[in-house]
Amino acid sequence: MSKEASQARPPVVAIMGHVDHGKSTLLDYIRKSNVVDGEAGGITQHIAAYEVEHPNEDGDMKKITFIDTPGHAAFTGMRECGASAADIAILIVSAEDSVKAQTVEAIKTIQDNKVPFIVAINKIDKPNANPDKVKTDLLEHNIYVEGFGGDTSWVAISAKTGQGVDELLETILLLAELEEFTGSSETTAEGFVIESHLDPKRGVSATLVIKNGTMTAGQFVVVDTAMAKTRLVEDYKGQQIKSATFSAPVSVIGFDALPSAGQTFAVYDKKKDAEKAVAENAQAKAALCGTDNEQTAEAIIPLVIKADTAGTLEAIEGEIAKIATDEICFKIIKAGIGDINESDLHIATSDEQSIIVGFHVGIDKKVTDSNDAQNVTIETFEIIYKLTEWLEEEQENRRPRKMVERTTGSVKVLKVFSANKAKQVVGCRVQEGELSVQDSFKLVRRDNFLGRGTIQSIEQAKSKIDTVKDGEFGMLVECKYEIAPGDVIAATITEEV
Ligand code: GDP
Repeated sequence: MSKEASQARPPVVAIMGHVDHGKSTLLDYIRKSNVVDGEAGGITQHIAAYEVEHPNEDGDMKKITFIDTPGHAAFTGMRECGASAADIAILIVSAEDSVKAQTVEAIKTIQDNKVPFIVAINKIDKPNANPDKVKTDLLEHNIYVEGFGGDTSWVAISAKTGQGVDELLETILLLAELEEFTGSSETTAEGFVIESHLDPKRGVSATLVIKNGTMTAGQFVVVDTAMAKTRLVEDYKGQQIKSATFSAPVSVIGFDALPSAGQTFAVYDKKKDAEKAVAENAQAKAALCGTDNEQTAEAIIPLVIKADTAGTLEAIEGEIAKIATDEICFKIIKAGIGDINESDLHIATSDEQSIIVGFHVGIDKKVTDSNDAQNVTIETFEIIYKLTEWLEEEQENRRPRKMVERTTGSVKVLKVFSANKAKQVVGCRVQEGELSVQDSFKLVRRDNFLGRGTIQSIEQAKSKIDTVKDGEFGMLVECKYEIAPGDVIAATITEEV
């Protein structure tokens, strides 16, 4: 976070707990009763995060952002970047069922990631609700709530009737004050992807939670190798906005590839800088070894795939995974929907080996006109198996070649007739295969390699021949090493495989 990160920032909260313990009911209740401008029908669209306003202890209105996704995604970014989408976790436990398997999992995630949290004991409206059992059961998992030997805040609630929910919101604000979350509205925005999806009409959109800085319409958002111009930024209500700042959930439409939940995003003013970031991310990705094949492969071809739909894209990725070999494989540095565009070209030019393939998509004129296009292989296809066949050919063509030595024939030396410097005349008997004039050979004595030489001429039954296949014969060889009876001369050729 930047130096100027000094403004108090609203907390971003995720709810975690066992299935059926009331996560969705609580999120819905808070959404309906507290959302800013929360009049009926105010929310046209359901995005995976929303903001509420609630008075704190002193009666000042404060914002809280809730992430409305299964809890874990809100913390996935944490280990890699030392921060996560959510600042605070609500551990929801049913007062009826108490601690269950997924409650324990949630506790582990919270503890592993050291996230400040509050226990919400839910369903207290139920006749057989037993909040004290929840508190006791939590002790076994080293969670000591207030009044039970610890200082972890807890609130008894009913997500159904709304009992205790105000108190829960106040407790969140109190914890946020204690934790002192800060940000700066001056810098460019950064944060996390909460979810993304492909809308047939609107294209790829993603819900982002800004953790620092301000995002303004017209800037460029980069998530890994996906990029979007923030032409269309909407708030959580689906209303178009010009700018948004820290802790706000926003929906950005127009990504050129599907970003993944949990990834971080960065924002750039200039397209050029955003493209540079994308290219760098692509390069870093190409250098990273992911799958088993990538770890053993001697060569990796960076690949950009563009397809017409998310379904075909997935099918193509599946096919490509199948054709990888131990020697060479493709590394998908970007997989996106839509025509092959300039940003794809940019990513591809980061490595001269890169290939761009399109399936049922066109190529932007800007790409065909660009000088860079000459340095990158770009192909489009209408049939998947043609695409994979072509990639297989490329794979074969680009496979690293190995030189291997193969023995074509060997003979045993019976007698050495003359040795004049490097030229020696020897009498031999064929053991296997054949030997020809000009062949190079290995001289082997008792299985030890002594040196190399070449065959100058071969004579059998008093006539000069080019190739000897069997029987006894004499030959003139060039070899620096002194040949002796009993040695083996093995003719070899070196081949590329
Ligand atoms: P999730 O799987 O954690 O999202 O749980 P849901 O929110 O879907 O709740 C599971 C069931 O419990 C639903 O039938 C809810 O109506 C019910 N439920 C949730 N909270 C309460 C509560 O506070 N009181 C009562 N009586 N029922 C609740």
